[in-house]
Order: sequence, then structure tokens, then C-alpha cells
Amino acid sequence: MLIVYNPATGEEVGRVAQNTTHQVKAAVDRACAAFPAWSSRLAKERSDLLRHWHDAVKADKEAFAELLCRENGKCLSEARGEIDYGLGFIEWYAEEAKRVYGDTIPTHDRNANVLVTKEAIGPVAAITPWNFPFMMITRKVGTALAAGCTMVIKPAEDTPLTAFKLLEYARKAGIPEGVLEVVAGDPREIGLILTGDPRIRKISFTGSTGVGKLLAAQCAASIKKMTLELGGNAPFIVFQDADLDEAVKGLVGAKLRNSGQVCISPNRIFVQHSILEDFIQRVQHAVAGIEVDQGLREGFVVGPLVNQAGFDKVVRLVEAAKAAGASVLMGGRPHAKGGLFYEPTVLTGLRDDSPLATEEIFGPVFAIYSFKDEEEVIARANQTEFGLVAYAYTSALGRSLRLSRQLEAGMVILNSGSVGTASVPFGGIKQSGYGREGSYYGIEEYVQVKYVLMGGAHL
Ligand code: ADP
Repeated sequence: MLIVYNPATGEEVGRVAQNTTHQVKAAVDRACAAFPAWSSRLAKERSDLLRHWHDAVKADKEAFAELLCRENGKCLSEARGEIDYGLGFIEWYAEEAKRVYGDTIPTHDRNANVLVTKEAIGPVAAITPWNFPFMMITRKVGTALAAGCTMVIKPAEDTPLTAFKLLEYARKAGIPEGVLEVVAGDPREIGLILTGDPRIRKISFTGSTGVGKLLAAQCAASIKKMTLELGGNAPFIVFQDADLDEAVKGLVGAKLRNSGQVCISPNRIFVQHSILEDFIQRVQHAVAGIEVDQGLREGFVVGPLVNQAGFDKVVRLVEAAKAAGASVLMGGRPHAKGGLFYEPTVLTGLRDDSPLATEEIFGPVFAIYSFKDEEEVIARANQTEFGLVAYAYTSALGRSLRLSRQLEAGMVILNSGSVGTASVPFGGIKQSGYGREGSYYGIEEYVQVKYVLMGGAHL
């Protein structure tokens, strides 16, 4: 039995049965058996079922928000935001299901027509992380089901309850057994079953780069397609010509979301040296006004880190920074509340090769660096194996254009701290992964192109 604890209180939130190898294989069998009928349903029928699922979950949004808050630790307002964000994917793909168009190509043969069709790739599987237990599921399932794929999903062991509740609502909405299956158990063993089964035609994974590489290696044996959304090390660049009020607002919102446990969280904050002191003071002022607390209450609060490993990592990174001579201007230690709470921290004076700069922090730590000019900061921002998102604040149009072209990231966000929504292609380059989720690009990941030559017309 998998016991799920509330990271804010340590209390048990619920239990989930651990599936045996046999049960996981049976779920894969059901997904494979359901594929022919599901993929040949009319797009409108799949769309309607997704829409029913969306409406059923939306009607019980508060129950989902409370569960999310209890199993993940994020506050209620963030949980509600995640549900709106996540429902957006079901809604978007219920619509997009009807728009998977093909092509006709001007023929090279007078007696033939050349067509390109797009077909569902097959039964697929997904492995998801704990930081967005609701949205990570809906983003993958909504897209797969819309395209005509069936899906087996393995949620993170810290937060499986939301996934099983979503499954329950999917069944109530009429999404049949086999079309969506959720499994829980030993991650390594389930990973081996899902990647090793040649009938599963694609794996969508969001999580650490290390596990992503392992799964990619396992998928190589059957040449399985993958979507990989892995770690990030986002630069957040503030130029002296930026609107500083907006930059501070964008930074604090993006950094403290989910206590910093987000792959697109600003990891390295580069501030032009002429405004460094002013900017740091503004950040400190903004952060000082934010409470740290358990999340089952109204208003935004910074919650706990999700588990001991996450907490220990933040402690290790900040301690290493202190030992390397960083100036800690705020926080820098576990919060007096105890448990998994860590103080929102602002520090500066670090080198670019310190662990805080090279590793993904995944905690409420603002690590601020200064820079002299544009050329220097672009080079430093790109000095990472990751390439998920890059943020920059500037009021200069030419510079915005240069940044959008030169920053090595799948997503460049200028003068805003807000990235995700259903209508945009989310994803990275370099070791942050490949493939996109959201928008019409997202559904392309679940279809395969078929070229059909219809010859013999004897015109
Ligand atoms: P994090 O460090 O953020 O928890 P992980 O990459 O370890 O990130 O976890 C993301 C997801 O990958 C979770 O669902 C986890 O259970 C799963 N996972 C971890 N190790 C493996 C593995 N060896 N094979 C398959 N899935 C795994």
C-alpha cells in the first residue's frame, strides 16, 4: 500500500494500492485492446467524451483543489489555478480533436492522387511528476485521447490521489476502461514494463533529466517515440531599461509558485549591475510581505517542500553557497515552523559555477547575479546544458528581438513571468528534452503521418 502524506503536516492523506507486475501488464493489455475502437470513433465522439470529463471535474473543482493542496502542499489559490490551467487542456483538446487535418500534395503522377493522412500513433503511456499532480495528467491525457490514442498513466508516488480521482471522473463521464488506465507501484518496474512493451508506441515523460535519459535508453529497443519534458535552469534577466515594478512582480510570482518547485522557475537571476542594489531591495521588500504556511486557507502562501529529499537538496545548495561566500540577504535556513518548510531566501555574490547556479534549485531561493552588458549576459544565460525557458525584462525593442533569437531555450518570455496555458507549445531544447505539449503542436506528438498514393486512375 502506498501511503500519501500531507507535506505541510505529515498527516496521512490517503492510500493507493500498489499494482503488481501482473496488474500493470493487464492495464497495458486493456489499453491495447481498447485502441482500435477508440481510434476509429468519430473525432466528435471523442471530443464529446472529453468535454463531459471536463464538465464533471469542473463541477467538483473545490474537492479537487482541496485534495491537491493536501497531497502536494501548494496553497488553495494555487491549487485552484492549477485546476483551471489543467482543465484548459481537456477543453482545448476536446476542440482540437476535430481539427487533425491531413494534406493533399500536387501529384507527380497524372494517374494518381497523393494524400497525407494523420493517424493516432497507438496505445501510449505517460509518467508524471508530483509538482502539478492535476495539470500534468490532463495535459497528456487530453492530447492523447483527442488524437485517438489510449493511455496508461503512472503518476508520481508522492501525489497519486489526484490522478486516481481524475480517473474516477473520466469513467463517470463515459471514457471507457482501457482508453485511460492509471497504475501505481514501483516506478522502475512500471517503467520497464511500459518502455519494454512494443505495443506501446510512445512514452510522454515529465521529470528529472536522469530518469528521462534512462527511459529514452529503454525506449530505444523498440524505437518508441517520446516526449520528454525534463529539468530546467531558467535565466531571468533584468536590464537597466526594464520596468522594475513589473520585473519584480514577474520574478516573485514565477519564483514562489509551488514554493519554487517548478521546472520553469527562475533559477539564475541576472540583474544589470547599475540597478543591482535597487532591484535586490525591491525583491526583499516584495518577499517580506509573503507568508509561509500550510496551504488550506485563503490567500497566497509559500508552502512546504514536497518531501525530505527536496528539502535536503535546498539545504545542501544554500549551505554550499554560504560556504562559497555568498551574501545571504534574507532567509537562508529552514523555517521556524519546522518540518519541510524553508524560508524564502534571497542571496547574491555567487559564481556561475556554484551548485546553486548549475543545478535546478526547486525551492524558494532567489539567487541573484550581476552582469555588465547584453552580450555577456546572453553568453552566461546559455551556459547550461538545459534549455527550457528564458525570461528577460527590457523596454528596448531591438534587444527583445536579439534575446528572442539568441537565448537557447524552447520558450523565451519577455516582460512577463507567466508561461503556460493550453494554447501555447510548452517544451524545451538541449537536455531539457524534446517534443511540445499544448497548442496544435501538442497533438502532432500523438499522430503519425501516412503518405497514400492512390494510383491506377488511367486518366
Ligand atoms: P523528481 O526528482 O522530481 O521526483 P523523477 O524523475 O524522479 O523526478 O520523477 C518523475 C516521475 O518519474 C515520477 O512519476 C517517478 O515515479 C518516475 N520515475 C522515477 N524513477 C523512474 C524509473 N527508473 N523508471 C520509470 N519512472 C521513474
